[in-house]
Amino acid sequence: MPDIIKQLPDHVANQIAAGEVVQRPASVVKELLENAIDAGATRIDLIFREGGKNLIQITDNGCGMSPGDAVMAFERHATSKINKADDLFNLHTKGFRGEALASIAAISHVEVKTRADNDEIGTRVRVEGGKLTERAPEVAPKGTTIAVKNLFYNIPARRNFLKSNTVETRHIIDEFHRVALAHPQLAFTATHNDNLLFNLPSTNTRQRIVNIFGKKTNEKLVPVSEVTHIVKVSGFILKPEYSKKSRGEQFFFVNDRYIRSSYLHHALVAGFEGLLKDGLLPGYFLYLEVDPTTIDINIHPTKTEVKFENEHSIYAMLRSVVKHALGQFSIGPILDFEKDSSLETSYGDNHRAPVNPKIEVDRTFNPFASDERKSYGGLASRKDAAASWEALYVGVSEASDSLGQDSSLSEISIESEEVDGRLFLEKREDKPDKLFFQLQNKYIVSPVKGGMLVVNQNLAHRRILYEQLLVNLSGQQATPQPLLFPIDLQFAKSDITLLEDLSEQLRIIGFAVEFNSGDAVRITAIPQGIDHGILPDLFSRLLVDLKGNIPGAAIEINEFLARKLAKSMAVKNGKALSVSEQENMLDQLFSCNEPALSPENRPVLIRLEAKDLDKRFNR
Ligand code: ADP
Ligand code: MG
Repeated sequence: MPDIIKQLPDHVANQIAAGEVVQRPASVVKELLENAIDAGATRIDLIFREGGKNLIQITDNGCGMSPGDAVMAFERHATSKINKADDLFNLHTKGFRGEALASIAAISHVEVKTRADNDEIGTRVRVEGGKLTERAPEVAPKGTTIAVKNLFYNIPARRNFLKSNTVETRHIIDEFHRVALAHPQLAFTATHNDNLLFNLPSTNTRQRIVNIFGKKTNEKLVPVSEVTHIVKVSGFILKPEYSKKSRGEQFFFVNDRYIRSSYLHHALVAGFEGLLKDGLLPGYFLYLEVDPTTIDINIHPTKTEVKFENEHSIYAMLRSVVKHALGQFSIGPILDFEKDSSLETSYGDNHRAPVNPKIEVDRTFNPFASDERKSYGGLASRKDAAASWEALYVGVSEASDSLGQDSSLSEISIESEEVDGRLFLEKREDKPDKLFFQLQNKYIVSPVKGGMLVVNQNLAHRRILYEQLLVNLSGQQATPQPLLFPIDLQFAKSDITLLEDLSEQLRIIGFAVEFNSGDAVRITAIPQGIDHGILPDLFSRLLVDLKGNIPGAAIEINEFLARKLAKSMAVKNGKALSVSEQENMLDQLFSCNEPALSPENRPVLIRLEAKDLDKRFNR
């Protein structure tokens, strides 16, 4: 048989490559915007016509190109951004493949006008279907204008495949949003068929979001910010009540690059747990900064997917940070807590070398041992929380002043070894007892600065017990409570294997589980105080998490158990509480890390403002 393998001619190879880089006009917009940013532009103008099918033109005031580079730029694998393979692991630019211009030019008519900073005169270059058709000196302002016309003119099948102008315009605007959101400090405009769609001045992130999505957006934003040695997170989440069914307000940026990540999205959903109605998606604009050597953005030709070295830690931290931000925001007007990073769940392997998703119990983790524990700064201790609580009373009354000065308040410790359902029995003689009263055996009402607090006793007690239980569950080995009648739970074989991997962790938190009977596990002992009725639910949830490869599933079990236990142990609504019980309840509540939310993320308290009361009295 004769040889039949031939090398593809360049223009065919480029057309094939183009198929990967350029799916639709929006892909061209993305590549050209990114090139302008890489060129150091501070102002970028996008003009497009007919959904980008006939014209996409981008003008920037960046570094421009020399006459030679203006031609070279269209060669395949021609890039000024990396020199050697190592550079790939330390990318600071958007582009690096040197493929975009070659690909775009292979399937369209491209005209470039450019002038480099120090050049007297600029250059005009035309490339059509990958062939250089013109190159001439041209008077041009500093920077670059690239016009891409008649996209897919030589691949009719692709051109016919394009959607309506409206749909393609939508895609272009989406890309434009992503780039503009990633770079609020740069000025952008976008014009479609002579209509100016966006005129975005250089600004900060919040203002950029508002400029794009409208004035009303401002009040929807809850700021998020956290720094660990792995990642720096900033940005905003949308208050839960503004979440929508449709996608569109979910933005992750990693080192100023928009990325998609269903994994990190899941972290956000987990952070919003209990706050979103079914089917609604949380909205977020989150900016992650990581060391470029710890990510790999080279796994997808259009570079919207990123692989993180510390994926699991980032997941855990995002979830916690979101929970925390939501907690802060719901309590915001009441207490101005110092940023308190002693969150309910550990961020995971902050101090350890990254490990694969092995399930681990962080036995040293103790959400209450706040001060020295973690590497990130700004920790507020429980005392600070109590202090903020005291601060609420400043100026309420004389009685409140004496309460405010009572330092014993801040010494209250609830790091009890044993948690029981009893309610704060110790009497506190030294307290004025006028500041609280119970309403309908359900609410504790207490005047505070500027208004009054109404606290639901059941939810408050759940929060308190939950945080105590979390400590106990994760802090020490639990004592198992043998079951008189062992319980068999049926599972698929693969599920049993998953649970088997977890047997050590289960033992630590107080389960005794036997794995020797085929399609069932036999539970012979369970942690103190838990009701065996929750076992089927507990295990099936656990399996869902394990299969979803959720990091820190052991923390999840503790969390779940703590939540269930707290719910069953908490004082019920309808129970009369003595004044000192009420007071202790409030003291302990405000020593919690997240006093405003129950473990199920329901509001524990509301604040009635005196000025709102005034209004109701028509004043
Ligand atoms: P990459 O961005 O991956 O390097 P491209 O094909 O997008 O590859 O661009 C090739 C090269 O052309 C870039 O490396 C850069 O040197 C130059 N270039 C492209 N667009 C611009 C621009 N707007 N301003 C200055 N130089 C540009
Ligand atoms: Mg590029």
